[in-house]
Amino acid sequence: MYTRMINKAAWLLEDGRVVKISDYMFYVMGRKNRHIVKVENGELICTCPGFKDKGICSHVVAVSTLLKLDKGSSFINERINMRLKRELRNLYKIISSR
Ligand SMILES: [Zn+2]
Repeated sequence: MYTRMINKAAWLLEDGRVVKISDYMFYVMGRKNRHIVKVENGELICTCPGFKDKGICSHVVAVSTLLKLDKGSSFINERINMRLKRELRNLYKIISSR
């Protein structure tokens, strides 16, 4: 059960899908949905239904891994930049097709 969650978390990080918004807020781009992971009283909480059920989810695992990495891990930043460019291109396609 945890293996799947950890694999998914690794994929989220590797694909640049975890973006730090502030010291207390992270934006996680899942395959279909977008989630917000927040730091509350020193603990990570997520807006996804899985977290509500189990109190843990791949998004929280991904953010906690990111927090443990060295600050400004260039590999992760590079992946985030690539992901953001793709997101913006998709957004542009949606807007320009209207
Ligand atoms: Zn979650």
